[in-house]
Amino acid sequence: MRHATLMGIMAKQPKGVDDGGMSARVRDIISVLCAGIAILFAIWSYVVWSSAVIRAAEVVEQSHAEHYSPDPQDTRDIRETYTPEMLATWERPEGPPRVGVQAGHWRVEEVPEELANLKRNGAGGVWLNFNERDVVLPIAREVVMLLEAEGIEVEVLPVTIPPGYVADAFVSLHADVNSSEQVGGFKVAPPRYDVSGRGDILAGALYQAYEAATGLPRDPAITWHMTGYYAFNWRRFEHAIHPMTPASIIELGYLSNARDRQMLLEEVDRIAGGVARGIQDFLELLE
Ligand SMILES: [Zn+2]
Repeated sequence: MRHATLMGIMAKQPKGVDDGGMSARVRDIISVLCAGIAILFAIWSYVVWSSAVIRAAEVVEQSHAEHYSPDPQDTRDIRETYTPEMLATWERPEGPPRVGVQAGHWRVEEVPEELANLKRNGAGGVWLNFNERDVVLPIAREVVMLLEAEGIEVEVLPVTIPPGYVADAFVSLHADVNSSEQVGGFKVAPPRYDVSGRGDILAGALYQAYEAATGLPRDPAITWHMTGYYAFNWRRFEHAIHPMTPASIIELGYLSNARDRQMLLEEVDRIAGGVARGIQDFLELLE
């Protein structure tokens, strides 16, 4: 019996020499059809698979965006409260150094209407049985204790910060998650639109001190959404910092990375020490 392949069919057969006759021809046609169907199925599978990959990437991008803002697409400008004249003549209130340390995703269930969509992000990043909120909160509390011991007026802030929050430094603590366990490290970002003129200095002080304390590598993946963090965004949200409050957001490490996770969970002193040192260095630079 002749071996019927696509190549075999395509090779010209002299008429009358075909020992299989009509039945062999039918078999050949069926083989061609089967090969065609197999090829079409392979193409269809590839299209379905690749669109699933693209969709998954879009979901990750959207959830990253929502991590930082209740409505990342909305760019309306609601704040006319802070006129350039007011900001130019603004003076820091009297009193000791004051710092706000925000524990990412803490008490998200209490957000006001303008931040309602943040609830969709829940406790933040989740990896195995760990979630970001529960990992970050003890770190924030430790940072507060360390700064208090230095005579700094400091508080842990939840997701909802007081409208027009005034402090010498506002630092928001978060932890990352990535689908690849290989991705690790920390990153710091000041507000994209910074009127205080000191966000960069605060971010720089945090970078140096946190790197020295933890030895973690710097993760360069700072996104547009991160620098547009809702709590920085006084142009859109009432529950945001005052424009003159220097601010930064720090992603302390990846819950999905074994090295980072071990440090975030078991070396809270070291992690919190790095953040507190960075804030103190920043405040000393201002003196
Ligand atoms: Zn977060």
